[in-house]
Amino acid sequence: MNINQALSQNEVKQLQEKDLNLIWHPCSQMKDYETLPPIVIASGKGAELTDVSGQTYLDCISSWWCNLHGHSHPVLNQAIADQLAKLEHVIFANFTHEPAIELAERLVALTPAGLDKVFFSDNGSAAVEVAMKMSFHYHQQNGQPNRRRFAALEDAYHGETLGALSVSNLDLYSQVYKPLMLEVLRLPAPDCYRCAYNECRETCDAPCFEKTHAVMLAHQEELSAILVEPLIQCAAGMKIYPPIFLKKLSEAAKAIGCHLIADEIAVGFGRTGTLFACEQATISPDFMCLSKGLTGGYMPMSVVMTTQAIYNGFYDDYNRHRAFLHSHTYSGNAMACAVALASLKLLETEHTLEKNATKGQLLHTLVKKAAESHLNVGEVRSIGMLTAIELVTDKVSKTGFASEQRVGYQIYKKALKKGLLLRPLGNVLYFLPPYCVTEAQLEQMVQICFECLDDFLAEQKNL
Ligand code: PMP
Repeated sequence: MNINQALSQNEVKQLQEKDLNLIWHPCSQMKDYETLPPIVIASGKGAELTDVSGQTYLDCISSWWCNLHGHSHPVLNQAIADQLAKLEHVIFANFTHEPAIELAERLVALTPAGLDKVFFSDNGSAAVEVAMKMSFHYHQQNGQPNRRRFAALEDAYHGETLGALSVSNLDLYSQVYKPLMLEVLRLPAPDCYRCAYNECRETCDAPCFEKTHAVMLAHQEELSAILVEPLIQCAAGMKIYPPIFLKKLSEAAKAIGCHLIADEIAVGFGRTGTLFACEQATISPDFMCLSKGLTGGYMPMSVVMTTQAIYNGFYDDYNRHRAFLHSHTYSGNAMACAVALASLKLLETEHTLEKNATKGQLLHTLVKKAAESHLNVGEVRSIGMLTAIELVTDKVSKTGFASEQRVGYQIYKKALKKGLLLRPLGNVLYFLPPYCVTEAQLEQMVQICFECLDDFLAEQKNL
């Protein structure tokens, strides 16, 4: 189809019906699609997506937090085309290629000191599984076989395969599967909006860490690794917490001799204002999981970065149980590596993070202004190129809307009609746009989002 040629309503309907006959969409109650059929996207340019009928949508969420430079970026398109002309993919066991080598070199240079080895996999959850298995396996064969357990924060999200789901802690995704899951130690997490210590995120010394520390200490001998989403618990509702908590967690993990797995899948590559969130706490974890923005949002790929010491713990003469025999068919895919390299180069040559500092501030100011004296905005929280709004029914008690009201979903539907792709998380609306977003687009996003919120609230009053 010519992308400029809009389909008729009838043609769109036919496509949607065909989709629904065949496809089971992710993270969806498919019955909802009876009233909100899937939007058939034909093309994308920058922060904008266009559907087959010609309607446009501003991508306020970087297409599930992965798109960095905008859709259909000429430089990234070219990088894939150039690579495709040479090699699309090759088995990665015992074989390699230049894009992978060059990418590994760049990642080692850019990530915190000490992360010197790169293991490739193909999605975020797989990276989390890899890091967990490596940590466990390392301890098994390096004199600490008692270290068999993982710890992660309350409200954590690390993916949805069974290991990753086990360390996650959002009932919405995991409750049904509990009988299948690992027994994970749950650590108290910071909750800055509802801080039990009446502290302020920007100035506190993370007194809440004491409780977390106490649980760690009680289980110090059995812990293999602690997993953490640095600076933002994204899926939990963009819960931003201060670097000092992360720093204390890292120091405490080191002190008790367990690994720290930093899951930067959602926040890596500039989202928090620094290339990696760990930089703000000046920490260097034992493992860092990266995906999503790694390829600029173009290709499914992930990596686990780890240390020479952990690598050495597997290095031996042939003994089939000592090596890390984990593999995914598409490990180190050449096109994914090529586009990841091009994306990293763009971040540098375009001075993206410097530009983001201004845009991120503008986004924050716009939202703050729109939320001013709004009765149902409990908190506006921002970091780097992300601003979130937590909705409440009452600002004093900070009570959220009941989940049956589906406030996020109602606002999502309204926003789509007005050309905005939002994807609220329960009571939390957020803007996490591609870095190419323009000032005008930021204004448009915020304005439309608040119109939709007010529409929703007016409807609630009239019920
Ligand atoms: N960890 C974090 C912090 C994430 O946000 C996500 C995905 N949203 C994952 C892991 C899982 O990544 P994937 O969806 O690629 O499996």
